[in-house]
Amino acid sequence: MSVLNFDNRFMRELPGDAETSNRPRPVAGACWSPVDPTPVSAPKLLAYSPEMAALLGLDHAALHAPEMVEALAGNRVLPGMATYATCYGGHQFGHWAGQLGDGRVIFLGEVVNRAGQRWELQLKGAGRTPYSRGADGRAVLRSSVREFLCSEAMHHLGIPTTRALSLVGTGDLVERDMFYDGHPIDEPGAIVCRVAPSFIRFGHFEMPASRSDLALLRRLVDFTIARDFPELTASPAQLPAAWFAEVCARTARLMVDWMRVGFVHGVMNTDNMSILGLTIDFGPYGWIDDFDPSWTPNTTDAEGRRYCFGRQPVIARWNLERLGMALKDVMDREAVENGIATYDAMFEDGILKMTIAKFGLPEISQVDADIVNAAFELLSRAEVDMTEFFRSLARIDSEAPNIMVLSDAFYDDVHFAALRDAFQDWLAHYSARLRQGGELDADRSARMNTFNPRFVLRNYLAQQAIERAEQGDISGVTELLDVIRRPYDEQPGREAYAAKRPDWARSKAGCSMLSCSS
Ligand code: AMP
Ligand code: MG
Repeated sequence: MSVLNFDNRFMRELPGDAETSNRPRPVAGACWSPVDPTPVSAPKLLAYSPEMAALLGLDHAALHAPEMVEALAGNRVLPGMATYATCYGGHQFGHWAGQLGDGRVIFLGEVVNRAGQRWELQLKGAGRTPYSRGADGRAVLRSSVREFLCSEAMHHLGIPTTRALSLVGTGDLVERDMFYDGHPIDEPGAIVCRVAPSFIRFGHFEMPASRSDLALLRRLVDFTIARDFPELTASPAQLPAAWFAEVCARTARLMVDWMRVGFVHGVMNTDNMSILGLTIDFGPYGWIDDFDPSWTPNTTDAEGRRYCFGRQPVIARWNLERLGMALKDVMDREAVENGIATYDAMFEDGILKMTIAKFGLPEISQVDADIVNAAFELLSRAEVDMTEFFRSLARIDSEAPNIMVLSDAFYDDVHFAALRDAFQDWLAHYSARLRQGGELDADRSARMNTFNPRFVLRNYLAQQAIERAEQGDISGVTELLDVIRRPYDEQPGREAYAAKRPDWARSKAGCSMLSCSS
């Protein structure tokens, strides 16, 4: 019955592991290990993304067919599928961590759709693999809902990301110590079927490089360029350099996008960096509520704040340097330096254009940059909701700017009272600049609203949907999925989903800080 057309190039063209058991072990000389998903007790399709399903040529009926639900739970392998886990390493929190690999992800293979697009499918939480080390290979409902919703939210925001096809409940319990305080509890298990043109990460290249396995590194580089970057046209000798520059450019664009919408990944280790410049691995991520560049959602990172909002562009660059180091034997040093310079130039140019657009300012000039910087300074001092601020700013009357238009974006009355005059002054400068530009307010407002989302997957919203799902009511997840489909539209009647973080959520687990335990 498989309506999916598989063509599994990764497995076919790259060397695999000879051993077929899921015994934890170092895997050298191979890019993947064959491994079967471990079946679950009672698979139930809880939610799916209609857009992603359509891209794979699956309609409602095809997705709900019992064999398909079983396949999405890892209980059945459909004709054409190939199941394997891949080998990668990575720098975690600044240190080389050695072999990591797909510890709880099992690939189902590569689907080629009617349009000829290639999509890798993988199940997250499908059981142990050779890369599981001591862990159980499973995922809990809580983190699976978060990954499912956020990958689709990112897509609809227009930001490159891995996608989620389905969310399946397993009927099994998974033990997790969410607060790392020695009090584990049993949580419902789930599996997300993730989809992307390629799940290759920086860490895939770091792994053979760290073992000085130049032959394997070369094969992986050639494969990646051929399969995932067919548009590159440089001569064979120049290809790796052109490819690395392209990876740097895409990563720069991704950082600009994350900074635009207030997304904080939370664990930007090199194993969580996509070679395609996609947002990948939704763990303890979060969305900025009050504008605070030093905010991190990740409890593990609360001390060092290595991966806080404002540092993401610097960290992405550091990660690219690690990738460049790993590639030093397949291209010359100049190519590495050029790639990093590409990143710097693209990021600098991109962030400037993006912020000017967020503010709806007429042009990129020193005057405008000064206005923007002054605003960010005020925002971080005043506890202002980032998303709400920019949507409100779009409503400012440039002839008669009034601070009260922005007042709802403030979290705290005391801060508002203290900085009210400073904001009013800033608004006067800002409006004067807008008037010089001569654009109609209505046009500016419409333009700004295409850069500044009205709806983001606020941490507390996801948490509310999770708590309902844990009680057996999935409708909170499907409603939220529907809201995030049109993040830039007003969506009358759905104002509650745009509301800034309520007071009760300020320091509640899942709403403010998240642990890596998932
Ligand atoms: P992450 O922090 O999610 O990027 O994961 C880092 C590494 O730990 C990756 O190799 C994961 O596959 C692995 N990992 C995380 N959770 C589990 C789990 N429950 N079982 C097996 N491996 C895991
Ligand atoms: Mg990861």
